Amino acid sequence: MKLNLTAKILIGLVLGIIVGLLLNIFAPDLFSTLNTYLFNPLGEIFLGLINMLVVPIVFFSLVLGVAGLGDTKKLGRMGVKTILTFLTTTAIAITIGLTLATVIQPGSDSLFTQEEKDAATFEEEESPSVGETLLNIIPENPVMAMAEGNMLQIIAFAIFIGFALTVLGDKTKGVYQLFEQGNDIMMFLVGIVMKFAPYGTFGLIASALGEAGLDSLQSILMYVLVVLLALLIHAAVTYSFIIGFLAKKSPIWFYKNFFPAMTVGFSTSSSNATLPISMETAQKELKVSKPASSFVQPLGATINMDGTAIMQGVATIFIAQVYAVDLSFVELLTVVLTAVLASIGTAGVPGVGMILLAMVLAQVGLPVAGIGLIIGIDRLLDMTRTAINISGDAAVALFVSESEKKRKIKEQRGEA
Ligand code: ASP
Repeated sequence: MKLNLTAKILIGLVLGIIVGLLLNIFAPDLFSTLNTYLFNPLGEIFLGLINMLVVPIVFFSLVLGVAGLGDTKKLGRMGVKTILTFLTTTAIAITIGLTLATVIQPGSDSLFTQEEKDAATFEEEESPSVGETLLNIIPENPVMAMAEGNMLQIIAFAIFIGFALTVLGDKTKGVYQLFEQGNDIMMFLVGIVMKFAPYGTFGLIASALGEAGLDSLQSILMYVLVVLLALLIHAAVTYSFIIGFLAKKSPIWFYKNFFPAMTVGFSTSSSNATLPISMETAQKELKVSKPASSFVQPLGATINMDGTAIMQGVATIFIAQVYAVDLSFVELLTVVLTAVLASIGTAGVPGVGMILLAMVLAQVGLPVAGIGLIIGIDRLLDMTRTAINISGDAAVALFVSESEKKRKIKEQRGEA
């Protein structure tokens, strides 16, 4: 049953790539008709279904997770472990991106004509500063936080409720059961929505590739290849270290079981939207404990975007090479720091990486308009880096879960 679904999703993915690209190259008119009546609706229905579940799933499952922990010390310990691992992996990710791009040199100042450079534009969008994000973490209005899907605020509110349920114990047993049942309902619905994943994946990918095509690939092929290589290295080395060394599990086992969630991340380009599926997969297939999964993964969807950090590293060096700017060591450090901090307040939704990149470029005085040169291909890279982003969240969740399990066993032994 499980293999069947994974295989079906894989078929949807491959078919989506083939159909989208073929139509883009040979039959653009047919593509727009098919896109309007088939690909886009399939994709939108799937996105709607999973987006519908994000807020309730994060909320119910985190409340239960916190209430299940029994004491706040554990939550504090998990929080510190999670955030430190997130920040470290993001810094490693961007360093891999910066290093590879510096060594391979995907860009040069003769890659684009002066006209092309002059014509490049990118409209910067405001994104909140780290200070603002941290100050706003306690929601003034929890209902609004949920309506807006503000993940950090939802997490904060869920922690408060979970804490209250723990302290009040038997008095609030009814509410606790209500949350348990709410969570069961959501998980049941995720199971149903997953059955639609092969079709949704097909629609989303055919639509994205049919629209984007590979036209803009030529001059930036090296840039794309360096990003992909860096993503691969990060997944194979950094995550294998977390999974194999810290969590003491097999990385192959991890990727095999987490694969369906990765394909959904790939097709939706959104860590946030993928949460219901990545959380369910982590809990059911990777046996990540509910508290760890429900705390680490939603938090990661907002503050841990390693794939995005890699892209920012490579893109910064690429743009510097294209505009013939030499970055000093201190500027490179500034890039690492800005990228790590900028990712904290920004939710994992499609295309957000470009907004973060604009902040990084501005910080070291590189032309933000240079983003215009790479944006044509970004939809494709967004897909791959989102799959990596959510794998990073799941790997850290597995680590936190396993280390807490071990600690519990030790404590029990100590008491015995
Ligand atoms: N789409 C990515 C995510 O949701 C963020 C980005 O790199 O644009 O994780």
